[in-house]
Formats: sequence, structure tokens, C-alpha cells
Amino acid sequence: MNRTLVLLIEDEPAIAETVVYALESAGFDAIHAGTGREGLDLFRSRAPGFVILDVGLPDLTGFEVCREMRRDSEVPVLFLTARDGEIDRVVGLELGADDYVVKPFSPRELTARIGAILRRSRRTESSLTGNSPESEKVVTRGRLELLPERYQARIDGIDLGLSRYEFGMLKVFMNHPGRVYTRDQLMDQVWDEPEAALDRTVDAHIKTLRKKMHAVDSAFDPVKTHRGIGYSFDPEL
Ligand code: CA
Repeated sequence: MNRTLVLLIEDEPAIAETVVYALESAGFDAIHAGTGREGLDLFRSRAPGFVILDVGLPDLTGFEVCREMRRDSEVPVLFLTARDGEIDRVVGLELGADDYVVKPFSPRELTARIGAILRRSRRTESSLTGNSPESEKVVTRGRLELLPERYQARIDGIDLGLSRYEFGMLKVFMNHPGRVYTRDQLMDQVWDEPEAALDRTVDAHIKTLRKKMHAVDSAFDPVKTHRGIGYSFDPEL
């Protein structure tokens, strides 16, 4: 089977080194560029099958690089973003990014995500139906508001800046308040590759989800822990 060539465009040497190592360990071929222009040159000369693109580059922005690549290519693109501000732009700009991860991230999560995107895009290529998913409604529970089409959750109108998994879990919870979910059930519903995830991955994302809610209101904790079982969303909210 052909190995997918992954182009990483990232200016921070330490991150680049870690990601290249993780990619090669996961069975990908990897090439790296430290600037947007160098990345575009490699993109044209090597025709990678996947691109990982840092948003903050020294010359062009990741968005500009993506736009340039999108002129004549449907290559899957995953953005690396810093926490503040950038996420909204990645999600909002509709540049055709396939996914994003927020720094700091685990290299294992990154490679699992790439594998899932590649499988998904192969499925899409092989199917002839071009149906787009139905639009999803905004869900409101108390002070919490979920905007599925924007991958956003808000408390009192303040965006929590959730990662995709945090968002996915909150969506499951908010759609079924009071129902207790085991870690396995959450992984099946939210993760692309549940078999590649660990139980403690769910706990870690619950922790960061709570932290982001506490950043808006330190007393706000609608996610309940059921020791030895799993988690639920407070129906009294
Ligand atoms: Ca950077």
C-alpha cells in the first residue's frame, strides 16, 4: 500500500520535529517547510496527499497558504492553531479546512485525526452522492448555548473556544440531559476512531471542557461525574 506523503508547514522547530517524528512512526512519509512560501513550493513540487498547516507563519498566514493551495487542489488540510482568536477564524472562514487541532496537542491525537480524515475523504470520493448534511439547530439549556454549525458553545454569549471533542461531548450531553454516558458510549458517539482512543482521553477532555466553562464562571459545572460509570449533563440547569 502506498504511504501518504504529508506536508507539514510549521515555523516552530520543536513542534515540527515532534510532528515529523509522530508522522513517520505512524507510517506516513513526511516533509517539512518552515515558511508559507517554502511550503507552497514543496506543495507544488511534491504533491503531498495531506497538508498540516500552522496558522501563524512568519511570511504568509496559514489561511493565505490554504487559499493558494485550494486554487487547484482538494488536498485534505488540517490547521494547527493557537488558542485565542484563531479557532473562530479557522471554523468561520470556510477555507475548506478538513479539521484543526489546538496547540498544545498530542502527536498521537494528531496522527489518529489524519488517519480518520484520509479514510473519510476516500469514502467521499468513492460515493456518488453529494448530499450535504442537514442544517442543525441551535440548542439552548439555561445559560449554555450550542451552535452546531459553527462548532461553538457559549455561556451568556461568551464563546468557550471548545476543541472538536469537547464540543462533541457537550453536544451529546445537551441533547440528552440527565442521561448517564459511559466513557465507551461517549467515544463511540464523538470520536472518529474510538478504538484508537483511551478511556482517560475522555476524562482529559471532560477536564478541559470544565476548565473552559470555569473560565467564564468558576461555579458553573453542568457536567456531573458518576464515579465508576461515566458522565451526565445536569437536567436542572
Ligand atoms: Ca507558528
